[in-house]
Amino acid sequence: MTERRTPPLYHAICAEDALQALTSKKEGLGADEVVRRRDECGLNRLPEPPKPNPVLRFLSHFHNVLIYVLIASAVVTAALQHWVDTGVILAVVIANAVIGFIQEGRAEQAMDAIRGMLAPRSAVLRDGLRVSVDAADLVPGDIVLIEAGDRVPADLRLIQSRGLRAEEAILTGESVPVEKDVAPVAENAALGDRTSMLFSGTLVAAGAGRGLVVATGAVTQIGQISGMLGKVETLTTPLVAQIDHFARWLTVFILIVAASLLVYGYFVGHMPFPDLFIAVVGLSVAAIPEGLPAVLTITLAVGVRAMAQRNVIVRRLPAIETLGSVSVICSDKTGTLTRNEMMVASLADAGRVYSVDGNGYAPEGAVRWNEADAHPDEHAVLLEFARAAGLCNDAMLETHEAGWRVEGDPMEGALMALAGKITRAGKAPFHQWTRIDAIPFDAVHRYMATLHHEDAGLSRIHVKGAPEAVLALCGNQRAAHGGVEPLDVVYWNDKVEDLAGEGHRVIAVAVRNMSEGHRDLTTVDLKGQITFIGLIGLIDPPRAEAIAAVAECHQAGIRVKMITGDHAATARAIAGMIGLKNHDRVLTGADLEAMDDAVLAEAAVQTDIFARTSPAHKLRLVTALQARGLTVAMTGDGVNDAPALKRADAGIAMGQKGSEAAKEAAEFVLVDDNFASIAAAVHEGRTVYDNIKKVISWTLPTNAGEAMTIIVALFAGMALPVTAVQILWVNLITAVTLGLALAFEPSEPGTMLRPPRPRNEPLLKGGLIWHIVFVSMLFLTAVFGMYFYAIDRGYSEALAQTIAMNTLVVLEIFHLFFIRNIYSTSLTWAAATGTRVVWLSVISVTAAQFAITYLPPLQTIFGTQAVSWRDGLLIVAVGAVFFALIETEKRMRLIFSAPNWHPRGR
Ligand code: ADP
Ligand code: MG
Repeated sequence: MTERRTPPLYHAICAEDALQALTSKKEGLGADEVVRRRDECGLNRLPEPPKPNPVLRFLSHFHNVLIYVLIASAVVTAALQHWVDTGVILAVVIANAVIGFIQEGRAEQAMDAIRGMLAPRSAVLRDGLRVSVDAADLVPGDIVLIEAGDRVPADLRLIQSRGLRAEEAILTGESVPVEKDVAPVAENAALGDRTSMLFSGTLVAAGAGRGLVVATGAVTQIGQISGMLGKVETLTTPLVAQIDHFARWLTVFILIVAASLLVYGYFVGHMPFPDLFIAVVGLSVAAIPEGLPAVLTITLAVGVRAMAQRNVIVRRLPAIETLGSVSVICSDKTGTLTRNEMMVASLADAGRVYSVDGNGYAPEGAVRWNEADAHPDEHAVLLEFARAAGLCNDAMLETHEAGWRVEGDPMEGALMALAGKITRAGKAPFHQWTRIDAIPFDAVHRYMATLHHEDAGLSRIHVKGAPEAVLALCGNQRAAHGGVEPLDVVYWNDKVEDLAGEGHRVIAVAVRNMSEGHRDLTTVDLKGQITFIGLIGLIDPPRAEAIAAVAECHQAGIRVKMITGDHAATARAIAGMIGLKNHDRVLTGADLEAMDDAVLAEAAVQTDIFARTSPAHKLRLVTALQARGLTVAMTGDGVNDAPALKRADAGIAMGQKGSEAAKEAAEFVLVDDNFASIAAAVHEGRTVYDNIKKVISWTLPTNAGEAMTIIVALFAGMALPVTAVQILWVNLITAVTLGLALAFEPSEPGTMLRPPRPRNEPLLKGGLIWHIVFVSMLFLTAVFGMYFYAIDRGYSEALAQTIAMNTLVVLEIFHLFFIRNIYSTSLTWAAATGTRVVWLSVISVTAAQFAITYLPPLQTIFGTQAVSWRDGLLIVAVGAVFFALIETEKRMRLIFSAPNWHPRGR
């Protein structure tokens, strides 16, 4: 393989030749060979899109109206030879760009980390064993197993295809799925006509099959098309985009006010131009919330990371907000509410019920009838159970340090273990049987069938699936003592109800002997021709943490609904164990089908359990619930779930059993498939929204307070209580520290005791506007109060300004502590101890204030003077009074409203 030859046109040669050309076998490559080829061909990854140049990225932070105004101001002050002002303004400009640059970098890191967590996996045959590997580890010659819902991991030459269809729009622009088959096509066939190939990056829409990897990484068809790779998501949500927009217009508004003040002050107030000019610049900097969008971006990045830590990956950022307002969660049962650690507990044939012992997936354990060991020699039907369970099966068992593990579907693993228990032949009891053909399981038909040949020349079909589905295919049944007898549907339905009523998942198995040499399996071979053997009951205990999480959701005003493909009685039993609200009422897919949209909308709201549903029902349910104004989170795993996931307000795909198609349609991916993680994500979603609200509620009044101070002084024609350079300073340090601390706020206690926030609740409501007015008035009063107090005591104007500026900063710190708890009192021990981030920022701000007040060089620059300790204490006391006032006002408001920050608008 070292010499460079033109590679064969794999689509035009037959599968055998393709295997030979890559010196591979149907059983896949060996481990050593894989390592060798990986060294040679590299990882199966597309080349990274080029990162934007950091210098350009840095410069882009100078591209904003405020910065232009500041640079112009620096020029003007320089022309006036006010060097200190020029220096401070330039420092503000540079600090702004540096902060923006660093914050953007952090946000990007958060996104990169998440992209890494979503790395696709792929099922591959190595040394004849099915293993699941990181798709990046594939090498040419690997045999990949693919099924509906997979994203094709590399360019593949099909060597086996069963109804495969692929959606190749990203390569060919053709959105209708193309039929795929193993037959070679013409050498000069266009990409879209190479039906013997599956191309990397396309989506398998239906069917299953095996493919030989012929190209990986950059050599694949998609790797050769660049340009489409640079799809990076920006870190924003509708709310943040809205604030961004708002901030831009606010900037324009403030600049107009500032310009008018300049004109007014000069012509009416007759103030000297240089002082006036720098005051107006100070006003603009104070009032414009330039840091707000950046801090909000950080808030989101922090939220994204917090969710990742709780096993939820955010794929589409806007949905972070939605998650906080979710009012219904529609969840899968198997694996999400239950553990998906299945074990066969019982078998039922036409006359007897057997119980099965065991431990996890170990293929060892007794099968008993009437408490005594049942041996296949006396109970021939057991062997039939074993063959159906073990052959109509895609899973593999393997030993692991911690015991036995399944590679593949857990239920199939449990069935494989059953086969081992009955035959006492361990994990691979049927090596003399070769699978010739199969009809894969799909969630709509709910059964799977295989055709096997045995070395001795036997040929058999085995079927397993949902009892109704299998019963509908059967012509007769295995009689209690061998032979066949007519199918007794009533008997079986009774047995199904019995087993399912205990919460067991029930699977039926059936068999048909075929003439020797039969090679194709179609549904025609099944219908009315197969023999029903019996039922297999599997236990799948509920997850303990799911029970707690459901209770938490109920407290948080969120309704939890279970939508499952499983049997109604099984669903009802599990719902009871999990603690769903309305667990007596079950609607089945058939019931839903009989309803029109209006009836369905009502039923969807009232009912919490939906059984025997197919993916199309999920879509109808989401739509119905949304029509009732609910915000719906919906889980899903299969290809067919994609439409419902897309339609849901928060689509949540399973990270482990989910198909790539489901993940791509979803807003969130659940790493551990666990319902408890959904509840945790809702919790985080609410926290993120709260923190966004907190950042805004802190920033706007602070800015307004600072700006009002200057405006009032200008109008009153008096000296500024805080000089313009000092205002610039205050802005510079608070922007980096105090507001940012709120982005890292943990959840408030009681976050999951509140009802969900109504969808589309406006942010700038009466409550916030009142808060802005109230707080900025208090700022104004305190700052002027302290200034006049100092003048009154005969202090110099510089000292009075120093005192006023420190008052301003102390108020901001107290305001920060107030904002940390918008839903409850701030006067608790937890609130007072605060977080590390809060204290870090408070300490750095305090240190900076001491520096500017007492260090001689800074005193010269900023025109400050040392403040006596008594006045220092007075400043802190004023802060405390301010805090007491706003806290009391909050208490008064909380009495009349629900435990909610705004008076509730419903
Ligand atoms: P759930 O919502 O519990 O995940 P599914 O849609 O996966 O349910 O399955 C629905 C029904 O289909 C199951 O109750 C079972 O009877 C049957 N079934 C599930 N997986 C398989 C399989 N691999 N082979 C055959 N039948 C299956
Ligand atoms: Mg399932």
